[in-house]
Amino acid sequence: MTFIKEILTELEKLAPLPYQEDYDNAGLLVGSQDTEVTGILFTLDITEDIVDEAIQKQCNLIVAHHPIIFKGLKKLNGKNYVERTVIKAIKNDIALYATHTNLDHVTGGVNWQIARRLGLQNIKVLAPKKQILTKLAFFCPVENTQEVLDALFEAGAGEIGEYSNCSFRSEGLGTFLPGEKAKPAIGERGALETVKEHRVEVMLPTHSQTQVLSALRRSHPYEEVAYYLSALENENQEVGAGAIGELPEAMDSTYFLTYLKHHMEASVIKHTEPASKAIRRVAVCGGAGSFLLRNAISAGADVYVTADYKYHEFFDAEGRIMICDIGHYESEVFTKNLLHDYISGKFSNFALCLSEISTNPVRYFS
Ligand SMILES: [Zn+2]
Repeated sequence: MTFIKEILTELEKLAPLPYQEDYDNAGLLVGSQDTEVTGILFTLDITEDIVDEAIQKQCNLIVAHHPIIFKGLKKLNGKNYVERTVIKAIKNDIALYATHTNLDHVTGGVNWQIARRLGLQNIKVLAPKKQILTKLAFFCPVENTQEVLDALFEAGAGEIGEYSNCSFRSEGLGTFLPGEKAKPAIGERGALETVKEHRVEVMLPTHSQTQVLSALRRSHPYEEVAYYLSALENENQEVGAGAIGELPEAMDSTYFLTYLKHHMEASVIKHTEPASKAIRRVAVCGGAGSFLLRNAISAGADVYVTADYKYHEFFDAEGRIMICDIGHYESEVFTKNLLHDYISGKFSNFALCLSEISTNPVRYFS
């Protein structure tokens, strides 16, 4: 028996909700996480047709990239497709979950999916986020340090890129004088104590602070744990918008456009003046990505693959980069495969279905 909560826990390991933008509405939008899962339908968008598909496939959880409830719902009387979709889901006991900008911002997320489809190598976050890391320094009797650290690592501390269990310790002498009501683990009330201690430092994602501090208190032998928390300005290289990588081989721009169209199954590509030099470095951003053009240029990208470019924004290329707008749907539709494959590796006791419906509201006439 698997509950929706367990699915959400796994999805949020990949894309923690605190990594979504402030304006976003990712998370469980409809339904209770205590419901048993009968099947999951993976899709880019949630529409009435998608809810019908879930009913037909006996899936009571829809996992999407775009949140159907985005700006807030003030009435629920079926006057527009958003309200009708939500009503249909509720009537049929179907839970709706969206992993949106939080999935845009993680390695292995939306932009990784595009980069992998294009065969890019050495993939990195294009615009790493700042101010999402915290440093914890604490003091601990030397014989307890490892046990405490293990608990902190388990709670999410000490990960830097591909490295886990990262910490630093230095040895010194700690002093304390237990008061009248203290229950000291070492020493006695009213007697000044000196203990050989480690000062230990670890980094943690700011959103894991509560879990890490409770692990510290749980595993540390002292009644009162001495620690410092500091907010860091460091960029987190693992979290942020867009991605950049290199093609296995340089291509001329005409060949690249054909390659891009084929690998992203795009009907049409709107692009700026083809670059005269060979294309090797490629920046990508699923969905509306014009806000990252400067990052793409300063990272040395030859081409920027994204969507939702406006007429005047194309001028900003200024011959420095080739902008390729492949369409919002086309840039992100394979996100459903990413989510499907990720969950398939973890659960197998119920149906995991890829939506077979195109939710693209845009049609092309040529
Ligand atoms: Zn999108």
